[in-house]
Amino acid sequence: MSLFSAVEMAPRDPILGLNEQFNADPHPRKVNLGVGVYFDDEGKLPLLQCVRAAEKALMERPAARGYLPIDGIAAYDSAVKALVFGADSEVVQAGRVATVQALGGTGGLKIGADFLKKINPGARVLISDPSWENHRALFTNAGFEVGTYRYYDAATRSVDFDGMLADLRAAAPGTIVVLHACCHNPTGYDLTPAQWDQVIEAVRDGRLVAFLDMAYQGFGHGIREDGAVIGKFVDAGLNLFVSSSFSKSFSLYGERVGALSVVASDRDEAARVLSQLKIVIRTTYSNPPTHGGAVVAAVLNDPELRALWEQELGEMRARIKTMRSALVEGLKAAGVQQDMSFITEQIGMFSYSGLSKEQMLRLRSEFGVYGTDTGRMCVAALNSRNIGYVCEAIAQVL
Ligand code: PMP
Repeated sequence: MSLFSAVEMAPRDPILGLNEQFNADPHPRKVNLGVGVYFDDEGKLPLLQCVRAAEKALMERPAARGYLPIDGIAAYDSAVKALVFGADSEVVQAGRVATVQALGGTGGLKIGADFLKKINPGARVLISDPSWENHRALFTNAGFEVGTYRYYDAATRSVDFDGMLADLRAAAPGTIVVLHACCHNPTGYDLTPAQWDQVIEAVRDGRLVAFLDMAYQGFGHGIREDGAVIGKFVDAGLNLFVSSSFSKSFSLYGERVGALSVVASDRDEAARVLSQLKIVIRTTYSNPPTHGGAVVAAVLNDPELRALWEQELGEMRARIKTMRSALVEGLKAAGVQQDMSFITEQIGMFSYSGLSKEQMLRLRSEFGVYGTDTGRMCVAALNSRNIGYVCEAIAQVL
């Protein structure tokens, strides 16, 4: 008998499985709106100019590849702090933030989850209903019981804010609440600043632990605008976890560049937290890889490259907005009667289209148009060439 004879086949990852299915599909006009990746108007994954320039400069003075410190490149960590909290912010100046380089946003979430499990093993985790597929799995695997708070109301196509607040108000002290800082995945509906204020009040009154997942900073309204919610939590005097991802904003998916920042109450506490985050990292993968972090640090720390990045990110953001409007117009032109203007109210890479599972399956099998079963479509994968076809396909299944 083999050691593995009782090992069961795990279900395929819903999104990555969809990718495999797409790649195997012979449909000549197939369009992949499943995975959350930004493509340019040519349908290509962009290599940003700022990244190219930083890589060129790095290659001109090639460096040996020693181990990085456990918490990553110092210039990277400080650039992340500046981006997320503001370089001149009181928290950064006071040394209250512990930031570590992480393997993408997923890595930041996982380091945070493992650390939280050590300091608060009995806590429950609440994620939004619905949320990014991996939130539940990641926190479950870290040993937590994971529940949900109400978020999306399909009937009104908006946030069920009263429901959300009631669920947060009912949570036990110490409950870890995972919040999408901006560009909610999968729905595309964010909270208003006034609603955030109420969430912060509920977190503070209920002594909950906020964990903000910021995977799309700059894809909503702008880098500063999207990050503003972090400042609100900090101003409220809360301890706080923030995971950052540069996968999308630098189009560096495969380099795995992200971070975890933890806001502590004072410098001494932050130093102790950092020492514990380092233990988690040391026993998981020892230290992070060099290349992606070096590129992002080079861009963020150089005024010219930084300006170029902001411009390129702004172009990605603007193109997505153009595609949202084009989708609404195109659906109307394709004969769709119902009002689809909600698509332009949503923000970020995704649109929760409101299509049923059956309709999504028909889109896939009959038209080669791939979105998730839940009706999520990646607007950032639409372009001037495929949008007409996608609109016709949607019109056929609606
Ligand atoms: N959080 C959310 C909400 C996401 O959508 C994603 C990426 N799909 C991540 C985290 C993880 O990002 P990364 O690829 O950098 O690990």
